[in-house]
Amino acid sequence: MPSVYIKTYGCQMNERDSEAVAAQLVAKGYTLAASEHVADVVLLNTCSVRDNAEQTALNKMTSVIGLGRKERPGQIYGFMGCMAQSRGKELIDRLPDIDLVLGTQKFHRAAEYLDDLLAGKRDKIVDTAEEQGSEGTIREHLLNGNAKEKSVTAFVSIMQGCNQYCTFCIVPYTRGEERSRTISDIVAECRQLILQGVREITLLGQIVTSFGKRDIPLRDGKSAFVQLIEAVHEIEGLERIRFTSPHPKGYGDDLVEAYARLPKLVESAHLPVQSGSDRVLKLMHRGYTRERYVEIIRKLRAARPGIGITSDIIVGFPGETEADFEETLSLCREVEFDNAYLFKYSQRKDTPAAAMPDQLPEEVIEERHARLLELINEIGKRKYETFVGRKVQILVEGESRRNSARMSGRTRCNKIVLFDGGERHRGELMDLKVTRTGSFTLYGDPAIVNL
Ligand code: SAM
Repeated sequence: MPSVYIKTYGCQMNERDSEAVAAQLVAKGYTLAASEHVADVVLLNTCSVRDNAEQTALNKMTSVIGLGRKERPGQIYGFMGCMAQSRGKELIDRLPDIDLVLGTQKFHRAAEYLDDLLAGKRDKIVDTAEEQGSEGTIREHLLNGNAKEKSVTAFVSIMQGCNQYCTFCIVPYTRGEERSRTISDIVAECRQLILQGVREITLLGQIVTSFGKRDIPLRDGKSAFVQLIEAVHEIEGLERIRFTSPHPKGYGDDLVEAYARLPKLVESAHLPVQSGSDRVLKLMHRGYTRERYVEIIRKLRAARPGIGITSDIIVGFPGETEADFEETLSLCREVEFDNAYLFKYSQRKDTPAAAMPDQLPEEVIEERHARLLELINEIGKRKYETFVGRKVQILVEGESRRNSARMSGRTRCNKIVLFDGGERHRGELMDLKVTRTGSFTLYGDPAIVNL
């Protein structure tokens, strides 16, 4: 049977989409290849959020094709996901060896199209059309993957698309309008995962807190998203619930109150703030002020002391002045994020921000990025050091990526903890004493706690 190598760029939604494609292909008899050098089919699942991500995927495919045409003449090449959606046939005009361009609403058609291409029934396939119901098609899992043991954590895609239209962001154009699955459908998928040994579920969406907004009415003042969390919370055997990526607008009192009430909802929240300046937030069309953002964090910390808070921040949005940037620095000092993902602003095709005046020179963006990174690292280091000597509970996920003699798990507040252990610990909820910190990593010792 043919073998396929899938490489993923970008967010967790993309990881999840790739997993669903891999599971679909495995069910059809394909095998998963460890690299492009031994694969009959090479698929790159792409990201369009920044130009850099697009260029990386284009360069990768160019080099894969260059080598593949010499070593494996019949190899099939495909782009999937966001860049496939936004560029479509243009990708084949640019790289004529590409056989397949699969848009964001078409992942479930991968096997059918590859079968046709491999059998020589069709030559080139570009499918980036909208498809009704596609939000319910990302459901197959590959819990064993290529790993030796079972996964104890799983991602569940609950919706597709985005209606927020932030002025910098390409996602509404690559992922389409928001479309949500039904609560019963999602719960059924989660139940199945628990039966297969999963203990922690992360609910996924581009703006996950907007789940069901248009289709599911408020119930007792609770949004559709909180109703979904409640329904998933009831599943026996499930230990932990996470979600990503939310929007600060979605943190109404009903969600904050859910953190206080639902013990399986872990004390961890990712709240993309993007900027600390009200002027820039308005230009970005974010829909909240700095004051409102800080208020949400205050409420979350009151509801769940010790909650881990992370964020996304864009540096160098058009027209961002030194004073605006100082506001971002001061917000970070005020909130004290556990960590934050920093993005250098990237002009995206057809987005309103791309046409705004005062696009900043690269040197300014680089310089501000370096200053903000230094601050985020300094705050993070301080916060991580407070864990030393404390007892934490982790869910052991598997071997550490860098050192196979170590196992890796996460605290409820989403800190990675490494310890000397073995496969027998996988899937366990384990108490450890934190002995030291690394860069955004904790090291722990189970023996100290269990003496
Ligand atoms: N739920 C998130 C939110 O509230 O905005 C959206 C997730 S978005 C797909 C991932 C992150 O990419 C954003 O939070 C933003 O920081 C970053 N991003 C999006 N467009 C960008 C651009 N044009 N340049 C730089 N970073 C960008």
